[in-house]
Amino acid sequence: MGKNNKRLVCLWLLTCFCTVSLFAVGSCNNSHNTSADLVVMNANAFTSETVKPWVEAIAVKEKRFIFAGDNNGVLSYIGPNTRVIDAGGRMITPGFVDNHCHPLWMGAMMAMMADLYAVTDFEQFKAGVIRYANDNPRNPFVMAIGWKYDYLPNQALTKEFADTIIADRPLFLWAAIGHVGWVNSKAIEIMQAKNPKAFQELTPELDEQGMPTGVFHHFYAFNPFDYFSDGEFGSETREKMFQHMRTVLNEALKVGVTTMNDVQIYKSFIPTVLEFKQRGGLDNTRVRGSYYISHYASVDFESLKNDLTEWKNLGKENTDSHLMLGDSVKAYIDGISANFTTFMLEPFSNNPGIVGYALWTQEQFNTYAQIVDSMGLQALTHGCGDAGIRRIINGYEYAINVNGKCNARHRIEHMSLPHPDDWQRLADLNIHGAMQPSHFFGDKTLERALGTERLNRMMPWRSLENIGADISFGSDWSAAPINPIFGLLIATLRINYKGLIEWSPEEAISLESAIRHYTIDSARGIFLENDLGSIKVGKYGDFVMYNFNLLDLTVNNLLPTNQWNPVELVDFVEITVVDGNIVYQKPGANL
Ligand SMILES: [Zn+2]
Repeated sequence: MGKNNKRLVCLWLLTCFCTVSLFAVGSCNNSHNTSADLVVMNANAFTSETVKPWVEAIAVKEKRFIFAGDNNGVLSYIGPNTRVIDAGGRMITPGFVDNHCHPLWMGAMMAMMADLYAVTDFEQFKAGVIRYANDNPRNPFVMAIGWKYDYLPNQALTKEFADTIIADRPLFLWAAIGHVGWVNSKAIEIMQAKNPKAFQELTPELDEQGMPTGVFHHFYAFNPFDYFSDGEFGSETREKMFQHMRTVLNEALKVGVTTMNDVQIYKSFIPTVLEFKQRGGLDNTRVRGSYYISHYASVDFESLKNDLTEWKNLGKENTDSHLMLGDSVKAYIDGISANFTTFMLEPFSNNPGIVGYALWTQEQFNTYAQIVDSMGLQALTHGCGDAGIRRIINGYEYAINVNGKCNARHRIEHMSLPHPDDWQRLADLNIHGAMQPSHFFGDKTLERALGTERLNRMMPWRSLENIGADISFGSDWSAAPINPIFGLLIATLRINYKGLIEWSPEEAISLESAIRHYTIDSARGIFLENDLGSIKVGKYGDFVMYNFNLLDLTVNNLLPTNQWNPVELVDFVEITVVDGNIVYQKPGANL
């Protein structure tokens, strides 16, 4: 939604609130003639609001909540055509707003690669890749996702090693974490020949002779369409992409996620997103797309400005309540600790002398942030290491000083390791921390790289809450499970991959607070807190009803997710509702 549109909507909503409250006064005498489309009674509904956090009944009419209160109060909204659901004490929350995930892009990519997240060792991974290659002989390349440093042998990742899996076709292997790519010799040859610029922008790792080793530490920007034509993909690939995108969005609805910030919309992918929407792909869900900016933008800031103007215009023409484009951009200051690409103040614990690196100098990032801010866009910047996060804060501060402070809500994505000296600055500058508790869960590789002292100050949720910093939650799917329950549990327990609660347990937060970060706070992170994120009269009727009281969640509920088999957790959701319409209903749900 463009800012002007947003202001108009706000004004319109204000008018609505007044009207609704006038009706509410009249409702004591049952005199308002507003009958709802959908009413849920006898519920245990957590609204995410601070004033009225729990209600018994809700009503939706014409897509928006018109009532949230007690059972008696809702009776007068029931008319002859109202669908009434007796929740029988079941829990309800607002629809989850996932602050950072990749449903459209990775959804589309899933159409052309093997999903090997579930494998547990390298042999299984290799076998899965070969099976997929044999099953898809006409694909112009072989692609798979899901390998982890944890189960790779000590063997260095090289193109020659990848050749031992498949040598006669180009092979692209994404790490489960998404950032790192590992390819074979054939892939290098084809990428360099077909699109040397795109190849360079992936920042290939080079050996002592200056030759690409086969590893890319910033593989997130890998786009097969940069190297292969539509013709090479074959006509059915596009249809498959749309199908997979739908599947991902449906999986999200199954676990109660009704709004997602897809943080990485590539320029070349925009036509696909628009076509997907036109085909009804977003009718049941909401996606906000943020435009990907490469750090190579610093080479030519004038062309960046042109690009951003185009993005803003695209947003004005294509934004509605189910697809929001044109108001935010995503860049990276650093990478991930597993491959030492986060930018740290102190060396990695298992790699003395290495502090990682930043993709932008401070000066470059300042200029970037100032341009983005001056154009009224929200900056989303990936920052995991304490030095990287500090560089982002410095850049946002610079932009605010030059352009004057406004309600920009610039974001730091992940914000895994903000240094304690910077916590207060985050709050003072109104910087929004878009965090994903799933990354706190960690693994052996992360633990070895960071060491105990840093693990103890990773994602200090309680401290950030205490100083009034603005934080929100999401999943970072496909790098972590899309199910919000996974993140809620980690935030409330601070449990790690070993099943232990050992990294600053005092930084755990309450479930109510964690749900707020995953709903109303993440709605604020996309400027839609007046429309989404809580159960409140005037907002869109997006909510989730469970067959389980989330307050009773325990560590036992987490273990299946750890195995990447979140079946038990999926079963928690009875219905998911968007715009007052049931968009997911569990088979056999008692309604
Ligand atoms: Zn991400």
